[in-house]
Amino acid sequence: MTAWNAPELVPLPDRRDPALPALPGPLPPPPPGNRPGRGPLVHLHDTATNKLLPSATGDVARLYVCGITPYDATHLGHAATYIAFDLLNRAWRDAGLDVIYVQNVTDVDDPLLERAQATGQDWQDLAREQTALFAQDMQALRVLPPQEYRSATQAVPLVVQAATRLLEQGHAYRVPGTNGGPDGDVYFSVHADPGFGRIGNLSPEHMLELFAERGGDPDRPGKRHPLDCLLWRVQRPGEPSWDGGTLGRGRPGWHIECTTIALEHLGISFDVQGGGSDLVFPHHEMGAAEGHLLAGTEPFARLYAHTGLVGLDGHKMSKSRGNLVFVSTLRRQGVDPAAIRLAILAHHYRHDWEWTTEGLREAQDRLERWRAAAARALAQNPPGEPAAQWQVVEALRERLADDLDAPGALGIVDSWAEALLTGNGARGPLVPTAVSALLGIEVLPEHQPR
Ligand code: ZN
Repeated sequence: MTAWNAPELVPLPDRRDPALPALPGPLPPPPPGNRPGRGPLVHLHDTATNKLLPSATGDVARLYVCGITPYDATHLGHAATYIAFDLLNRAWRDAGLDVIYVQNVTDVDDPLLERAQATGQDWQDLAREQTALFAQDMQALRVLPPQEYRSATQAVPLVVQAATRLLEQGHAYRVPGTNGGPDGDVYFSVHADPGFGRIGNLSPEHMLELFAERGGDPDRPGKRHPLDCLLWRVQRPGEPSWDGGTLGRGRPGWHIECTTIALEHLGISFDVQGGGSDLVFPHHEMGAAEGHLLAGTEPFARLYAHTGLVGLDGHKMSKSRGNLVFVSTLRRQGVDPAAIRLAILAHHYRHDWEWTTEGLREAQDRLERWRAAAARALAQNPPGEPAAQWQVVEALRERLADDLDAPGALGIVDSWAEALLTGNGARGPLVPTAVSALLGIEVLPEHQPR
């Protein structure tokens, strides 16, 4: 598998990575009467319309998943989000689509700078270290890397261009300095987009509450509307800054970073924008509004998909609460990353759920059963019947095509493993190969233990 290209943050040379798992690939052709070796197109839940929609419309599927702010290690909530969209990426490839997957890393932002200041570390070193750790975690979890992995600092010229354009169009404005701060922070008039609010479908009161909770500044004096969001923050003493042309030196706001990276690498009306459900508002709503005005058309993304939140001890995992379980900690404790991945896949991506040691133990047992079954599937003589194997593969594909029903897919593999271990299942390499390609769980003997 191609490695995540962090921390250098350069694009991968070939977006059609031949090493990426795909069916049928090295598999024998399916027997006559079976469908050709392609999976069906995934239908995915769209937050904006609350409907299941086809996840792609052409031969190329375009995906943007919002990345991390690298000031702390990858916790299980992050892992669950990237694994969910990894299932989509894998199912798309299996359906024969060419995938363009773009992700950002917010390597300059308030929380990162605050953490660096609190610990006395250089903010760039912190960002680099944590981005590298994230990449290692993703690789261990077998999350296929995006083709374009772009940082906020790389996107500065795009943000400057976009903020300047929105100012010229009259959709953005400068705010005078307050509390001794400098003049000239640039804010976006969110209501300049008539479609603003159509993703989250929230009441104005709820929007205000979430905006205040999630990095917004509803009470900033000088704004035309409390929900207007920052595009460009002019330089403060001691803060990193970049040349902003007529905007003056400064640094980018958060939402516009994703908007410009997505428009640059995917274009308007790309297929899916994904992220945790805490990104529905304000992040995706504001990013889309900016995108509509910059591109002069809509929608920004055809479909918005959101993952549930992962809790621990009755609360959402969050930095402020300090109840985080880190992927890297589990790995250091010797937990097989495939078991972590399986523990996550036991929950539907849209549900909120709780991380528990029992859940991890169940995943470890399941992994053991699957691997024992795979060993038996390959070891037995005579070779298995292709039809029986393809039946399992098709059932697996069908579950994933239905809004990435991973728990359902796990059930299919459980039944196959159970049947094999009790002496009566579909033998041969097709199911283990499909489990690896579609679920990202390596069950073949040569790949274990890690
Ligand atoms: Zn984003």
